[in-house]
Amino acid sequence: MGRIVQKFGGTSVGSVERIQNAAKRIINEVNNGNEVVVVVSAMGKTTDELVRLAGEISKNPSKREMDMLLTTGEQVTIALLTMALHQEGYKALSLTGWQAGIQTENNHSNARILDIDSERINGLLKDGNIVVVAGFQGLIPETNDIATLGRGGSDTTAVALAAVLKADRCDIYTDVTGVYTTDPRAVKTARKIPSISYDEMLEMANLGAGVLHPRAVEFAKNYSIVLEVRSSMSDERGTLVEEEATMEQNLMVRGLAFEGNITKITVTNMPNEINALSDLFTILASNGINVDIIIQNVMNQEKTNISFSIDSSILSDTQEVLAENQDKLGFESISYEGNLAKVSIVGSGMISNPGVAAMMFKALSDQDVMIKMVSTSEIKVSTVVKQEDMIKSIETLHDTFELDARVPVQK
Ligand code: ADP
Ligand code: ASP
Ligand code: MG
Repeated sequence: MGRIVQKFGGTSVGSVERIQNAAKRIINEVNNGNEVVVVVSAMGKTTDELVRLAGEISKNPSKREMDMLLTTGEQVTIALLTMALHQEGYKALSLTGWQAGIQTENNHSNARILDIDSERINGLLKDGNIVVVAGFQGLIPETNDIATLGRGGSDTTAVALAAVLKADRCDIYTDVTGVYTTDPRAVKTARKIPSISYDEMLEMANLGAGVLHPRAVEFAKNYSIVLEVRSSMSDERGTLVEEEATMEQNLMVRGLAFEGNITKITVTNMPNEINALSDLFTILASNGINVDIIIQNVMNQEKTNISFSIDSSILSDTQEVLAENQDKLGFESISYEGNLAKVSIVGSGMISNPGVAAMMFKALSDQDVMIKMVSTSEIKVSTVVKQEDMIKSIETLHDTFELDARVPVQK
């Protein structure tokens, strides 16, 4: 007998029919002799709708109350799905995140899972139940308050449960048939990838590929859990996320990721002192400002300019922190460039193939795309470009690295 965790995302439980369809998939696994734990998201676009409602009441709602509000979405789904399982004659029970023993750090709206007390779930499985757990939520033990795990966090609930329950499989059912070379909704030539390594998937997820929550991939890597990302609407095999991805010949780039809504900030004429960078970024970090790419330009012996990118949603917070600390940091002025996007290439083959970044830059410049910032790691190159150039850049790079041309590997 195996133990399986199945996760169904918002679209996959977006209507009564889809909830019944999810119930069928769960029942199939039970009929094959498996113990099944199910993790679900809120139905359809419920979470977005709740965010919108809160916005009508307040521009800056309390994070605690936001978590209280958003966790209701998943609670609706667990009850309905459990009823659908009962209707088919199966023993099942729904649990909220806290009933399932999921404990998080004290960080509303973006909490990490710290621990899971799996006693109750284990007992329920032993008694022959299908256990249906609300994704995206947990309890902060110090305050006894409900926390959410960040948008898209139900994936992380599923993988963390798979880890503590020592599941044999963790299947992520979503609205696409797997992980693609890039978002198939944005680029028509995107192709399904048969398998991708944890490290590549982690980069893709962190760089904007919303198909998996980055922390879910971290858990999967740390506990060696093989994930299969697949569609709840078809029986087609999905994408395996695992330690070593299947070798594909001459593979330099496995996928492309992109995200918009980026602002570049330049702090000009700071004193060119040894601790300039450390002072600036310590102040930003201690105020919770998350900075991405950093570039320093030493102007002369005395002065330096420092640019960095942030998510545009935190621009006003960043402006405030910089203004408050202008005297301390000694810079002359700040300039901003908004409406930017990050376009990235990811692939573990880059390590052994020099010139991949050069190919990327040439392809973009051939299309008159101006690159504003660059950052690299062993397996990715990210560029910041104008938002209006984002999709054109992705399409160009998809062609350049021949991502639609590779022969699918038979598994
Ligand atoms: P769920 O509600 O099932 O968690 P999400 O909307 O969170 O679904 O994630 C699935 C979506 O991720 C797809 O509809 C697709 O638009 C987007 N996506 C972004 N990048 C990729 C990619 N590389 N491969 C597949 N899907 C991607
Ligand atoms: N419902 C939450 C969201 O929309 C969590 C999830 O779906 O993973 O972000
Ligand atoms: Mg998701």
